[in-house]
Amino acid sequence: MSEPKTQTNTGRQEQVRAAEELLFAGPQKLGLAKGFFLGRFVTDWVLPYPGIRPEEQVAVNDALGQLRAFLDQHLDPARIDRQADIPRAVIDGLARLGVFGMTAPRDVGGQGLSQMAYCRVMEEIGSRCASTSIFVNVQHSIGMRALLLFGTPEQKRRWLPPLVRGEKLAAFALTEAEAGSDAANVRTSARPSADGSHFLLNGEKRYITNGGIAQVLTVMARTPVPGRDETAITAFLVTPDMPGLVVLEPRMEKLGIRGTATARLAFRDMPVPKENILGAPGKGLKVALTVLDFGRTTFGACCTGAAKTCLRLAVQHANTRRQFGRTLGEFELTKKKIARMAAGAYAMEAMTNVTASLIDRGLEDYMLETAMLKVFSTEALWMLVNEAFQVHGGAAYFTDRPLERMLRDARINQIGEGANEVLTSFIALVGMRAPGEQLREILEALQHPWGELRKVWLLGLDQVGAAVRAPEVPVKNPRLQPHASRLGALIRRFNVEVDRALIRHREEILERQYVQERIARAAMELFACACVLSRWDAELQTDGTEAATSATAPSAAEFFLRGSFRRARRSLAEMHENDDAVTTAVADWMLERGGELR
Ligand SMILES: Cc1cc2nc3c(=O)[nH]c(=O)nc-3n(C[C@H](O)[C@H](O)[C@H](O)COP(=O)(O)OP(=O)(O)OC[C@H]3O[C@@H](n4cnc5c(N)ncnc54)[C@H](O)[C@@H]3O)c2cc1C
Repeated sequence: MSEPKTQTNTGRQEQVRAAEELLFAGPQKLGLAKGFFLGRFVTDWVLPYPGIRPEEQVAVNDALGQLRAFLDQHLDPARIDRQADIPRAVIDGLARLGVFGMTAPRDVGGQGLSQMAYCRVMEEIGSRCASTSIFVNVQHSIGMRALLLFGTPEQKRRWLPPLVRGEKLAAFALTEAEAGSDAANVRTSARPSADGSHFLLNGEKRYITNGGIAQVLTVMARTPVPGRDETAITAFLVTPDMPGLVVLEPRMEKLGIRGTATARLAFRDMPVPKENILGAPGKGLKVALTVLDFGRTTFGACCTGAAKTCLRLAVQHANTRRQFGRTLGEFELTKKKIARMAAGAYAMEAMTNVTASLIDRGLEDYMLETAMLKVFSTEALWMLVNEAFQVHGGAAYFTDRPLERMLRDARINQIGEGANEVLTSFIALVGMRAPGEQLREILEALQHPWGELRKVWLLGLDQVGAAVRAPEVPVKNPRLQPHASRLGALIRRFNVEVDRALIRHREEILERQYVQERIARAAMELFACACVLSRWDAELQTDGTEAATSATAPSAAEFFLRGSFRRARRSLAEMHENDDAVTTAVADWMLERGGELR
């Protein structure tokens, strides 16, 4: 059994590098988010604004129409919450509509639609019921996606059709007592039998959605590495009829998404045939992280759906509730909330759409964009639910309205599928790898002035060039040019600050989470601004349609961009003026005193 890792710089660097390599091992192509860290704007990742492919538009419209009709009639989110269960009729209905196989190929019974199309469907479900959207996500994105991406042809033929048809439910079991955010710390073991025909699974998993009701579980366990005194994580396909699977708790009582069944499981000498290994032996973490990477896109879609519901509810209430002889919407402090909510929902939708299009285009290295989408949209939804709640006042507190449920449901998003803090650190460290390598090369080259002089000159020029020139952000509509120029200038400033931070902190940057957070936050705002500008540009180009009319109206996009530029500038300014030392001092004092103020 491998020992827990030490948190040395080298160790941390190894973890980040390993995570990146696990997610992406092909030739590196500079993407939008990684480009920001080098002072570049990779136009074709975000402009023009992507849309559903014309050839699938009819199928998507049909699917959405049927889905809405079904949900209107059969989905009762309040009842699902109260009874802590999603009725089988709802699951069967969604299966009949093909929701569980939206992006699965047709030869296994799927619909073969794009990720963007799937996101539209998830937005619709997410706008109504978070339990149901998370259930679908587990079945489709996490449960089945692992098979689609890593299954052998034989495994796909055997396991996928019943999952697509919803006859079997899926679960994805990674988390354990010692392996939460630190996913690599899995302790569940899988020992090969003497004849090598099967593995014996031993260990416990917790917080597993569908864990007690699934017929197909993807379980992460440690297997010996042949010829070495080490273990590595391997993914196994497990079914509940295998002797030794114990459901310790099928439905843990919980705060939100109460319709989902979250389980605690144990494996006691459970024999699993070697044919049930999913992906390469020892590469289970790659399976897990890749699958989570995909899942984060639909997280964005579900949060967008819920955000739009919050906005609609807040507006309805603000237009009808009267106090002091006026509607609430006539007060500036309500207007401010509504404008903020509209801007947030607009940005979430734009970011989801752009990120899904990266998957559809077959681009491989979109891990920063999906991580940014996850952190941004889960925080934005939390803000939106909170603002809608406040607009409703006491009325929101009672169970006859949906907001108290939506508030409870929204809280998991910042924790699940990668806690936001872990992803924030990941965004900064993965993003800084390319500029870090460049700077290291410059420093190394400086020690060999004769042989490497030309390289120093070229690399240095490249760095200075990025620092002097702001990249062009080529929007079509002249009205948007000032915003595009502002974004270009901010990307340049961001790149300068990243280089400064790397020069100042060097390897220590791996431990400087305050700095990482500022860099990640600024990068997220840049990504959000790029997506919003792209969407706004596209809307302004749509002639004579409803979208064009609304685009000339006071714009949520403009409001978002103004605030986002300000937030990015503030994050960068705080690189130089901050309370880091006193923050650490207060926290350490509290940690030492057991949290007692006096
Ligand atoms: C309702 C629900 C459903 C779930 N479904 C599944 C499932 O289907 N399958 C599955 O495998 N798992 C599932 N999970 C588990 C989920 O993915 C984990 O809860 C999550 O990864 C966080 O792990 P943890 O709870 O152990 O928190 P911890 O790892 O203990 O982290 C606690 C907090 O510490 C902070 N933190 C942790 N690491 C760092 C760091 N490096 N830097 C800074 N701050 C840090 C973060 O703020 C984090 O929120 C589910 C959880 C819940 C609550």
